Amino acid sequence: MRTPLIAGNWKMNGLRRDAEALARDVAAAVTASEGVEVLVCPPFVHLDAVGVVLADSGISLGAQNCADAGQGARTGEVAADMLVDMGATHVILGHSERREFYGEDDGLVAGRYRQALEAGLTPVLCVGETLSERDAGQTEAVVAGQIRGITDRLGADSLGPGVIAYEPVWAIGTGRTASAEQAQAMHAFIRAQLAGIEGESAASARRLLYGGSMKPGNAAELLAMDDVDGGLIGGASLDAGDFAAICAAATRD
Ligand code: PEP
Repeated sequence: MRTPLIAGNWKMNGLRRDAEALARDVAAAVTASEGVEVLVCPPFVHLDAVGVVLADSGISLGAQNCADAGQGARTGEVAADMLVDMGATHVILGHSERREFYGEDDGLVAGRYRQALEAGLTPVLCVGETLSERDAGQTEAVVAGQIRGITDRLGADSLGPGVIAYEPVWAIGTGRTASAEQAQAMHAFIRAQLAGIEGESAASARRLLYGGSMKPGNAAELLAMDDVDGGLIGGASLDAGDFAAICAAATRD
């Protein structure tokens, strides 16, 4: 049985006081339950402050990236063990905004993934196709390639506790959501790919999140799909009420 995970990606939003207020509101609005795991991922510079607010809330803390090397000469990067030191347990990797705006490719994401695992973080690996790739019929090849981008480099058993977030790029921040059927089809495809890489048992235990304009109005339908084990939420995670409603929709008794 896979416990659903709802992860909020706060992206590059808010000053410290905003992050603290949002964390307080989320902690108050989200009903702690064993039926769902809840994670928030603020910007690096707010991890410490948000961690203080969330202490004892049952809500986990994650970062939005980590370096592909250990501490040392990597100006502007943040090492995975520094994130653990801030109280983070998870890290988002390979987000499409990183791939698009900062040129991150599968090799770099694999290096980050390895560092995250070595530090004891759970990676949330983002995969997904652009609209032109979908229109060209390349969706499955792109997504399979992004997963193999990790396992070909790090090994078939290398995903560890990692979570995979299927995020069609055309649905991120656009208000355009994949239909529940489209999401399920891709999640089933990803699980089948994983079964071929790491074996049936590891693949059936691995959590697969959907991300892309998930909000209270569409969450229940998406989360009801067999292979959708939670969500990675951008815009709606900045509103505590909306985020809590998505968490409630994911809760399994
Ligand atoms: C995201 O950035 O991971 C995301 C899913 O954003 P949004 O929910 O705003 O589409």
